[in-house]
Amino acid sequence: MAGIDVLSARFSSYDLMYSHDVREQSFADWPFREECNCTPEKMATAGFVHCPSENEPDVACCFFCLIELEGWEPDDDPWSEHLKRSPNCGFLNLKKDFTELTVADYNHMEKERLKIYIRKVCHKRMAYFRDGIDHMIESLKSQLDSM
Ligand SMILES: [Zn+2]
Repeated sequence: MAGIDVLSARFSSYDLMYSHDVREQSFADWPFREECNCTPEKMATAGFVHCPSENEPDVACCFFCLIELEGWEPDDDPWSEHLKRSPNCGFLNLKKDFTELTVADYNHMEKERLKIYIRKVCHKRMAYFRDGIDHMIESLKSQLDSM
């Protein structure tokens, strides 16, 4: 269960990620900094948050649609990579600058973001339970086979 809870905890702080600065700060250990397209600044502008794991050090996740992209190349343009993979992302399709949103705009966005977040966490939980059930069935089968 630990993995799932870590995941929920990570995404649950994403309401802070409406801030470009907070997103950019998440890229403190990002490998691409100079003379390339995917600098921390551009990654943050495209809505990404750096969320590395032990096995995948260059995973970036959109704080809004939660798409995760890895395998970044220096020439990759964060905005177009994001748009290619998640054309309906509410953040990418924002018609005004975040600082110009009204409270009503913000509430609408936040409702959409939370829907995506809840859906993703529920799907991960279901997958986790399904794996657990599969594992248990296999184990029961092998116990029966050895009787
Ligand atoms: Zn997105």
